Formats: sequence, structure tokens, C-alpha cells
Amino acid sequence: MELRDYQQSVFDYSTKAFLNGAKGICCVLPCRSGKSYIMARMIKGAKGNVLVLAHRNTLIAQHKELLRDLHVLTDKVRIESVFTEASRLGKYSTNSVDLIIIDEAHLSEARSYRKVCEYYDCRRVLFTATPSRLDGKPLTLADTLITGITANELIQMGAISDYDYYAPDLNIDTDNVDMVAGEYNNRQISDLMCQSAIYGDVLKYYRQLGENRQAIAYCTSVKHSEKTARMFIENGISAISIDGGMSIKERNRRMELFKSDKVQILCNCNLISEGVTLPNASVALLLRPTMSLPLFIQQACRVLTPVKGKKAVIIDYVNNVQRHGLPTDNHEWSLSKAVEKRKQHNDDGTLSIRQCENCFRCFKTASKCPYCGYEYQVKGRELKAIQDVELKKIQAVEKEEQEKQRKYARMQLGQCRTVADLQKIAKERGYAPGWVWRMARIKHITR
Ligand SMILES: [Zn+2]
Repeated sequence: MELRDYQQSVFDYSTKAFLNGAKGICCVLPCRSGKSYIMARMIKGAKGNVLVLAHRNTLIAQHKELLRDLHVLTDKVRIESVFTEASRLGKYSTNSVDLIIIDEAHLSEARSYRKVCEYYDCRRVLFTATPSRLDGKPLTLADTLITGITANELIQMGAISDYDYYAPDLNIDTDNVDMVAGEYNNRQISDLMCQSAIYGDVLKYYRQLGENRQAIAYCTSVKHSEKTARMFIENGISAISIDGGMSIKERNRRMELFKSDKVQILCNCNLISEGVTLPNASVALLLRPTMSLPLFIQQACRVLTPVKGKKAVIIDYVNNVQRHGLPTDNHEWSLSKAVEKRKQHNDDGTLSIRQCENCFRCFKTASKCPYCGYEYQVKGRELKAIQDVELKKIQAVEKEEQEKQRKYARMQLGQCRTVADLQKIAKERGYAPGWVWRMARIKHITR
């Protein structure tokens, strides 16, 4: 089993970390970086029994197939659904597992994972592209973070597809949506998206930018997902919606329709993320405003399977780029603190990422779009933010001026030695005569 250089170095670092006393290692690798191969190498090198835990049946099946192909699926390896394992603890003795490997580790804060890890209490390796919980809080089953190759490096290698990121500004106003644990209130955001009169634009930009290629649409709710599918169908584009409420059989049937190219748009809410391989989808339609950086990355990056001669297309209808930047931007992940919120504005109030209103591409602050040369117009919120910064500057100057005058006044008052001096100040500043006598008493001036 030959590993690529970056895969080998993740393996080497992990080995070293365990030798240095680490208990839980989190390996950060973007989607499609071949982390299953590193996993296989770890299993091969493990001295005792290995338990591989995953969340979804599709993922378990994929792991089994690959590990079998790589000849590491021996009787010392078990690949299990975390739910099954958690529900039958006691079937195996506590010391029967020497290494736990967790895939989709951004979900590993779920009770079932914790239960299994506490039961076996052995070393563990966690794999994920986004080492944080969906609410941004750090993962707790790991004590060591190992960062492998970046998504942009994988793009350069051709291992994942390059992409065009479009963010047409549809003015979806999320200001009045309540926040729950750092994320938009689910019902309210769903109502907002279901009511928003943007369906015409969703269709228009999909046709224009998505070139009618197979696409995954990420929606806010089952209702929203079904509504979006219906909208496409009514406009002559085949579409289907899947959700967690339907039977696995029905879900798989619908996925199969999409995989075999019988359906063009696959709409879903929270279903398509890491581990779901849909290689024929090269367009993502982001219709769910989210504050969750991991969720944003998981969704947007799902369409980066390389297709010969084609770039992937991400159409962000809901301004997620302003919340998180581009999906392949580098992030400072941490096991000790929550993911830091991205600054939307530069110090002068300009947007740190601008969206071209001509070609809808996103770019770092500039007066012209680097893609089409369109002269960028500062308006709306950005203009207000710049004006606010200006206003603050003016207020700061005024405050400084007032402070200077006050200081001068205090100094003047401090220099008064006679009642006549005080009277002079009272006259200059328009104070009532009582002030002179009050001050004279305070300052013990008698003449
Ligand atoms: Zn442009």
C-alpha cells in the first residue's frame, strides 16, 4: 500500500504523537484527500484490535469495500455503526479494542460516540475535514490536532476540482431571524426561505451559471427542499427531494435516480454531507443561510469531485460567503477554543469579500472585479458600514477636542488666585454669579 507524501506524513506524525503520549488524535484532511488510505495504513500498523466507527450506512459500506480491497479487513478489525455499537456495549469486553477510528469526527460529540469511547477507553484517531462541532465549539475526544494537506493544495494537484464561486446578491434579510446556540432558528429561517420571492432568481442563475449541469441544492427544511424541487419541475427541469424522514429504501431509490443521471437536481436538507459520494454533481446551490462554518464547508465542498475539463460551480444565493469566506480558505482550527468568527468588514468598513454585480464572482476588496473588470459600486450595507466608521472617526476627533477644552478649562480654573480671576472665567463661559462664590469657597479664595 503506497501512500501519497502528505498521507504518509499524517501517518508519521500520528505515530509520533501516540509515542509522545497522545490519547486522541484528530487528523484534519479535506474531502477527497484519501483519508481512507491513511486509515488503512493505521489499521495495518496497529498491534491489537481496531474498531472503526461511522455514522452512516453508506459510509460503513464504503469503508468495508476499500479496506477489503487493500487487504486489511482481517478478523482484528470491526467496522460498525456508532449507534449499533453504543446500543450493545457489554457484548465485547472493555479491553477487546486497542484503537478506535472515527470517521466524520465533526459529529463525534454525539452521546453515542462518547459512550463507546468511554467504554473501551483506548487510543483513538478522528478524521474530519472540519475539526469542530457544527456549532463551532471544539471537539473533546481528541487532544492532538494534525493538519494535513489543504484543499487548495489538493486543487493544484488535481485531486479535487477547481471551482467558480458565484454569489448573486438576492438581499435575503436574516437580520430579524433569532439565533439558537449560534445558528439561525430553524423554523424562522425555513419560513424566510419558503416565503422569499427568490425562486425566479434561483432558476435564472442556475441556468446561467450552473449551465444546466447536475446539481445538489441545500435547503433549510424538508418543506423548503420539496418546494424547491417542485419549482424546478414546473420549469421543465427534473428534480427530486430527499429527507431524513423517508425510508432508507426510498432515499436510496431517489439517490440512484440522481446517480444514474435520470434526475438533474437533488434537493435536500442536512442529508448530503461528508461520506456521501455523488461524483456526477458538479454544481452546488446553497439555499441555506448558516452560521456554521463546518456545515458550510461540508456542503460546498461536496461537489468538488474532479470532472475532466470541467470546473465545479458553487452558487451561493444566501450570502454565506460573507459569513465564512470561500469554502477552501484556510482556517485556524483549535481543540481548545471555538472557531473564530470571520470579520466581514475591513477596518475602514469596506467588505473584505466583495461580490461582483455583473458576473457574481467573489473577490477580495478592490475597486474593480478581477474577473470581468466591472467597476465595483459601493452601496447598501457596505456604504453604511464605511459611513459608520467615518462617523466614529469624526466623533473621536470631536471627543478629543472637547476633552482638550475641558482640560484647558480645568487648568485655567486651577490658576485662579483671586475672585476677579473667577469672575473673568464666569463671564467668558456665561456662568451664573453664584458659581464664582461657590468656587471661591471650594478654592479658599478670600480676596
Ligand atoms: Zn465581475
